[in-house]
Amino acid sequence: MANRPVEPEQAMAGLFEGLTRLQRMALLGRLEAAGAGLYRALAADEKNTKAREMLLDAAGNEEKNGGLMKLMSTPKDKCEKCGNALSRPSGGVACSFQCTFCSDCGTALQHVCPNCGGALESRRTLEARP
Ligand SMILES: [Zn+2]
Ligand SMILES: [Zn+2]
Repeated sequence: MANRPVEPEQAMAGLFEGLTRLQRMALLGRLEAAGAGLYRALAADEKNTKAREMLLDAAGNEEKNGGLMKLMSTPKDKCEKCGNALSRPSGGVACSFQCTFCSDCGTALQHVCPNCGGALESRRTLEARP
């Protein structure tokens, strides 16, 4: 019996199965960076000037989205406020953008990120989020 071909959407969804939220963000960021390269390659042999501009814009958007996913999924290794080193994955607190603080500074900030105004959560919790 012949195997049914796997649709690309299905194959892509499969890549994300069983990953944590941060792992999904990291993977999505990598796929978007790869997507940017594909858009640039399409732009390179596009004759229509306007279409080429649009493809290059699309590449830029992919890079921007990929950059956001990388930022949001890459833990930092020290406190932004006091500069003390943090142990991964459990040390300190962070916001959704990975603005990161040690426990003492997090408490002093009343668990509100001074950069984005979002909540500072335990990094252990953030890392484990399904
Ligand atoms: Zn600190
Ligand atoms: Zn923040």
